[in-house]
Amino acid sequence: MLTRTDDGLQINGEDLSADWRTELAEAITDPDELIRRLKLPEKYRQPARRAAKLFPLKVPARYIDLMEPGNIADPLLRQVLPLGEEFHQRPDYLLDPLEESEAQPFPGLLHKYKNRVLLITTGACAIHCRYCFRRNFSYSDQQISSAQWPKLLDYLMNNTHIEEVILSGGDPLMLADHKLRKLLLQLEKVAHLQTIRIHSRLPVFIPSRLSKQFYDIFAQSRLSRVLVLHINHAREISEELVVAGIKTRENGFTLLNQAVLLRGVNDNAETQIKLSKNLFRAGILPYYLHLPDRVTGTSHFAVDHLDHKRLMNELRANLPGYLVPRLVREHPGEASKTLIM
Ligand SMILES: *Cc1c(COP(=O)(O)O)cnc(C)c1O
Ligand code: SF4
Repeated sequence: MLTRTDDGLQINGEDLSADWRTELAEAITDPDELIRRLKLPEKYRQPARRAAKLFPLKVPARYIDLMEPGNIADPLLRQVLPLGEEFHQRPDYLLDPLEESEAQPFPGLLHKYKNRVLLITTGACAIHCRYCFRRNFSYSDQQISSAQWPKLLDYLMNNTHIEEVILSGGDPLMLADHKLRKLLLQLEKVAHLQTIRIHSRLPVFIPSRLSKQFYDIFAQSRLSRVLVLHINHAREISEELVVAGIKTRENGFTLLNQAVLLRGVNDNAETQIKLSKNLFRAGILPYYLHLPDRVTGTSHFAVDHLDHKRLMNELRANLPGYLVPRLVREHPGEASKTLIM
């Protein structure tokens, strides 16, 4: 039950300040254990083990708690379970379909769009999503370290049209608060910078990451702050996340969501409508619905079978306009994401 106290919002009488690092450390990385916990058929054991060698399994315990035991088609499970399909090769699926290596002034900084840049703050994530284009890279040598901050500041200072810095990764909320604070202090030196944006999936299953300490980092900042979460299915929105979302808004963040349209996860209007409604309960507005990138090992998530126009029309007919995400795809070399509908 959700209650409001002098200290803020509570759920079932407990506040949400439990140490997020403990939860992070309790993530499951052994495919056998995932299969055991969810009582999945034995035949998935071998392929899961093999595919986990392509891209390791990683799933926080709390995310597993949101899944339905025994259901191999569970939309949350599908996002994290390594499958034999990942070995399928298709000529139109590439290792680096976005040609990201082309848009880096130096490692760790992506400058594709005119007035906003994206920083790879860490290669690590709290969860490993099987459809992710990062599955084929080791991001450890691409992330921006504090040794490179002078170079970063130089670049930002010299490019006066850059108004927004996006902290991405990996997952930037894997960074400790003191690191985020230091980075923010650096960025604030850039007079023409207006907005700091964080792209993160971590709070979805570790809502306690959005703590008072986290809000305090930004409390005194002159920069506008935006948090873009990554939630693909209504069932990923727990009551704890609803509380955390509301608190985050109260602390001055604009709260948005980007989802990926994935076969067997959320590829129908009913699921998308539910997602939008649940996001709104948590104070989050849908922003982008991405068509999945054509990345080697992910072709089983493709939604080529879908009539995108029909899907989006159905969303528009059943949701207020502010709860309809923009359906987009990313094309290398374009000045922005490409709007499909
Ligand atoms: C998606 C993306 C952005 C942000 O684009 P918005 O349309 O502003 O959300 C910025 N830089 C890169 C490299 C991106 O891929
Ligand atoms: S970068 Fe985002 S989509 Fe990719 S594995 Fe990490 S959390 Fe998942």
